[in-house]
Amino acid sequence: MKVTVLVGGVGGARFLQGVKAAAAPGDAIRAVVNIGDDIWLHGLRVCPDLDTCMYTLGAGIDPERGWGRAKETWSVREELEAYGADPTWFGLGDRDVATHLVRTRMLRAGYPLSQVTAALCHRWAPGVDLIPASDDRIETHVVVDTGDDPPQRKAIHFQEWWVRHRAALPAHSFASVGRDQATACPDALAAVADADVVLVAPSNPVVSIHTIVDVPGMRPALAAAPGRIVGVSPIVGGQAVRGMAEACLAAVEVPVSAEGVGRWYGARSTGGLLDGWLVAPGDGADVPGVEVREVPLMMTDPDTTAAMVRAAYEVAGV
Ligand code: GDP
Ligand code: CA
Repeated sequence: MKVTVLVGGVGGARFLQGVKAAAAPGDAIRAVVNIGDDIWLHGLRVCPDLDTCMYTLGAGIDPERGWGRAKETWSVREELEAYGADPTWFGLGDRDVATHLVRTRMLRAGYPLSQVTAALCHRWAPGVDLIPASDDRIETHVVVDTGDDPPQRKAIHFQEWWVRHRAALPAHSFASVGRDQATACPDALAAVADADVVLVAPSNPVVSIHTIVDVPGMRPALAAAPGRIVGVSPIVGGQAVRGMAEACLAAVEVPVSAEGVGRWYGARSTGGLLDGWLVAPGDGADVPGVEVREVPLMMTDPDTTAAMVRAAYEVAGV
């Protein structure tokens, strides 16, 4: 069987662990990964969601933080701070820096991000093909009011809003900078076009999933996908399971509920994304045109997550 999964960072990576645990020998797993969080820092290209997936599936992740390398040290960050080199709010770990050095060097040599990612994955052997949603640069920016007096409205990089401000500055809207000139990665389109089933991970609906779906070329590919598309709600009991997705949903005026997100994604039969939608027990959602099923959605370990994935396959009829 061929399964393709749309994923962001931590939620996506944990879901992919479950897809792997549910796989039969010979199954091909491909992940189309969000690139909207990517950023240039200190001359290095940093791709947080790709790296979170790569480290998690390759057993290099820091299990407590859920991102970055295990047994990380921070000498580079301390030295940068001693120089007063901005930005100081995004900590690059020493081990992590090696990944960004290799990536940046290959990008500078002219390799597309998809090939660079494949080269990095040679070391980590994640067991999943990690495909950036686009080889072009697309970066999510957030329109906020600054805390200045009088307040000023400006667009800042998603990472500045998320990491520096902990999403506490109310967001007015999101913009995908570079999107209009970008095209979807050909491998991502192919992964959708020949998949027996497409899964939408319980990732951040706004800045992970929507950012992927919004890459030019993705929407028609998903509309034409021969396999069914089944999503998993990242909202359980009216709350994001981890993290600050509520702040993103508020900006796009989507209710923080499994039903709200399901309706926002919409039914494929009416121009939306989904054929099926998994919600947590008790979250019963009415999403017109979409088959909704209640199953436990806490990704406590890969085997528990595998049960969730099998339920998605049942809904998809594969
Ligand atoms: P990020 O890029 O690291 O922010 O990660 P993602 O976009 O992939 O996923 C973030 C989302 O994962 C959050 O909105 C959480 O609600 C969701 N999430 C995290 N853990 C779980 C879980 O155990 N179950 C479900 N259903 N969602 C989860
Ligand atoms: Ca992310």
